[in-house]
Amino acid sequence: MPMNSAVPDNRDNFNQIFKLLQGEYPNAEPMLHFKNPLELLVATILSAQCTDKQVNKVTQVLFKRYRNVEDFAEADLTELGKDIYTTGFYHQKAKHIIGSAQLILTEFGGKVPDTMENLLKLPGVGRKTANIVLARGYDIIEGIAVDTHVTRLSQKLGFTTNTDPKKIEIDLMELAEKKDLENLSMTLILHGRNVCIARRPKCGICVVSGLCPSSEA
Ligand code: SF4
Repeated sequence: MPMNSAVPDNRDNFNQIFKLLQGEYPNAEPMLHFKNPLELLVATILSAQCTDKQVNKVTQVLFKRYRNVEDFAEADLTELGKDIYTTGFYHQKAKHIIGSAQLILTEFGGKVPDTMENLLKLPGVGRKTANIVLARGYDIIEGIAVDTHVTRLSQKLGFTTNTDPKKIEIDLMELAEKKDLENLSMTLILHGRNVCIARRPKCGICVVSGLCPSSEA
């Protein structure tokens, strides 16, 4: 990976930074509620541009109304849109959920796929969602879910100069052990939400300030 941006290469400090952040967020567990891979897939689609808390509020009712893949495949677009309205982008999300459920029925025997290749065939499912479904739904670590927080922190901390999530994923996979990728993603997300906030990072209280090339402290 070429390191040629304003932020210097800081990959040598990765292990130390990761350890410090793990100390800050010892319970970096995913917060979405689900009981099976289908519910996880739906919840993850709903979580785009929405908080996990709000998604959980919506799915608490939704998963009582739609109990299996057939229910979602046969759902009325307008009706489902109303049910998930408060998660935002409801029309697109409803289309993706119905389309995914239909494809799961016709192509995958009614079971949410457990491979990256097949998950990526579902409408609205990119590598980020697929990585989450594989890791949390099937205990398969294929890569790392790269969202806006993971992207921003990886750049600020000098772990990558890339902007494409797929390339950032590869860069992070070179730094962390496979078994730690899920935890790394969650840890960076939590630090991005709580301390290294976009446009107003709280460097003064950041536990990795002394090791961060972007520190403003
Ligand atoms: S020192 Fe500042 S820029 Fe670096 S990770 Fe901490 S909050 Fe973010």
